[in-house]
Amino acid sequence: MGIGLTDDGKAGGMIIWHALLIFLTFAARKLMTERAEKSTQKIHNFNAGPSILPPKVIEESAAAIKDFNNSGLSLLEFGHRTPEFTSVMEEASALVKELMQLDNDHEVLFLHGGASTQFMQVPMNLLDDKETAAYADTGVWAAKAINEAKFFGNVDIACSSKEKGYTFIPKDFAVPNDARYFHITTNNTIYGTQWQSIPRTSNPLVADMSSDIFSRTLDFNSFGLIYAGAQKNMGAAGVNLVVVNNKMLGKLKRKLPTIMDYRNHIREKSMLNTPPVFAVYVSLLTLRWIKSEGGIVEMEKRNKEKAALLYQEIDENPLFSGTVLKEDRSKTNVCFMMKDADLVTSFLAYTNSLGITGIKGHRSVGGFRASLYNALPLESVEFLISAMQKFKTDFT
Ligand code: PLP
Repeated sequence: MGIGLTDDGKAGGMIIWHALLIFLTFAARKLMTERAEKSTQKIHNFNAGPSILPPKVIEESAAAIKDFNNSGLSLLEFGHRTPEFTSVMEEASALVKELMQLDNDHEVLFLHGGASTQFMQVPMNLLDDKETAAYADTGVWAAKAINEAKFFGNVDIACSSKEKGYTFIPKDFAVPNDARYFHITTNNTIYGTQWQSIPRTSNPLVADMSSDIFSRTLDFNSFGLIYAGAQKNMGAAGVNLVVVNNKMLGKLKRKLPTIMDYRNHIREKSMLNTPPVFAVYVSLLTLRWIKSEGGIVEMEKRNKEKAALLYQEIDENPLFSGTVLKEDRSKTNVCFMMKDADLVTSFLAYTNSLGITGIKGHRSVGGFRASLYNALPLESVEFLISAMQKFKTDFT
């Protein structure tokens, strides 16, 4: 149907839309020029995962695919039992130990299968049929971990923020004394909440740290088991980091399939079967980068600064609002909304035109989510903030 002259509302809408588009393009060009002057980066990558990696890591990974260690062979065609690759695995494990300052009881493993496999492998190794494990239900990933644990034993939901759309971290709750372990998700990637302090209970603590591993200092030795998919703060998709206190293992009546038993992986130094060689190598390069930049202490300092700046803008800019309880805000995944829902699409189009990518919120939450992983430079956060400010002045 054409636009009838008498259809004032529709025609007017089209004119405003066209004017907005012209204005958008003009403002986008202006901002891009400013950005080009200030920035050396083409894309500001706020993806939630897989996500931004340090440029040095990308370059070195690409070089290793062409020629690994001047061997004339690609890393992709290199035997995993060779001394060259064995030393990759050894160095990666040693760097995890060093960066996390782990004691001798804590073993470091690089395993296949993504964090979702750990939802199942953890209870399979730690929870007997008639025993109970306690879980904090703080988001979709926590809920998935809970569902998997039910295959192996009883689950006590010690606390939950589900009723309020997972917008806060539970504070007052009790964990049953006899629970074999208490499982938390230290950072809830989808909702943008984070345990600011780790709960102290008499039960061994198990943590899914997929989205905030190596982003902040914690007493890692106080955990019975930590797991994380690599594809956010520590490398490429395809490998999991598992840190486990070996005193937790070997206490079950259940017989475990060989490949599922952590003890076999410990004995074989993460080489029980062919490891995901490329993903392990990218983790090694990322771990080296973290160390060379000043370790987890420095990562935490940078992440605090990035998050503080962005939350300040969200709180001050009248167009935006935060989505979760302030005290529980994540320093890794910053979730926010547009007060006027009609502006969401144009803000996304505008930021996209500037080279800002990955800020669309998870489909179950909507709005926006900016992931501020270790490799994301402060400059990208400042650029996003300047786009939020320009959008306010130019388009409203
Ligand atoms: N746990 C958390 C906190 C996550 O953010 C994710 C993915 O984003 C997962 C688990 C699942 O990870 P994977 O896709 O590696 O199984």
